[in-house]
Parts: sequence; C-alpha cells; structure tokens
Amino acid sequence: MVDNKPIALDDMYNPRWTSGIGVEKEGVCPLCWINGELRTFRTKVSAYWYHMNFFHGISSATCQPYEPPRAVRQVVLTTRLMMEGYCHQCSQWIPLESIKIITVNVRQIYWWKHAQKCHIFPVSKPSPSLPPTIHPTRNTRKRQLTTSNTI
Ligand SMILES: [Zn+2]
Ligand SMILES: [Zn+2]
Repeated sequence: MVDNKPIALDDMYNPRWTSGIGVEKEGVCPLCWINGELRTFRTKVSAYWYHMNFFHGISSATCQPYEPPRAVRQVVLTTRLMMEGYCHQCSQWIPLESIKIITVNVRQIYWWKHAQKCHIFPVSKPSPSLPPTIHPTRNTRKRQLTTSNTI
C-alpha cells in the first residue's frame, strides 16, 4: 500500500491508499475503511469511480456528497405513485425510482445517476433555487400590497 494524499482536507472521494500500477492499480475506499471494511477497487477501469459515485453518492467532480433534492413529490403513474426530486442545478423534477417495479441495492441510485451528470460544480450555499410549486409568489404579492397600503 502506498499513501495517496487527498486533494483537500474535506476530499471524500480520493483513496488514501493505493496499490499496484497501471490497470492493476487499486484504491482503498476511504468511507468503507471508516466503517471497518478494507475494500479496494480498480481505479483505471472505473470500478473505484462507480463505487464512490453510486454506492456512497460522492461526486468525483467535487469530491463531496451529491446535493440531495431540494424537494420531493409524488406523481401518479398508471399503476402506482412514483417519487420525484427537484434538482437545484437544472430546475427539473427527476424520477427517484424506476418506472418498472424492480429491487435495487442502493435506493438513491436514480438521483445520484442524475446528479453525476448534472451537479458538476460545487454548490454555493445557501442556494436560492426553490422548486416552482414552493416558490413564495403569494407572499411577494402580499408584501407589495402591504407596501402600497402604507404609502
Ligand atoms: Zn466504499
Ligand atoms: Zn439536475
């Protein structure tokens, strides 16, 4: 095992130890290690990348956990309800489940698959992006009325 320095103190993505070289190179998952498991994944064939992005939800672009949905809602399908999450980055409602009824090992996989393509920049906090259904338009109008009453 060789030490592998994190790119920042809060780097949750990169392995702290690696072994091997070339396609044989493996990285130790820092999060599984914290839980007492020594799990290694090949870094050159995307196994490590896949594990971090879609098992732990750690972005390889930001080295931080993916932002969760800003809001969730249920939509009616023909045979059942399905959850959707609101994405702060693209301002879209994203399915949080498969259209088909299937069992998945990691329930967040649908959100993280979207986030991996969409959340490629660190989030500036606090984010002003709210879903359209929750946007306080009524409050804004009330404030304007209050202002005009006082004039
Ligand atoms: Zn892990
Ligand atoms: Zn998005």
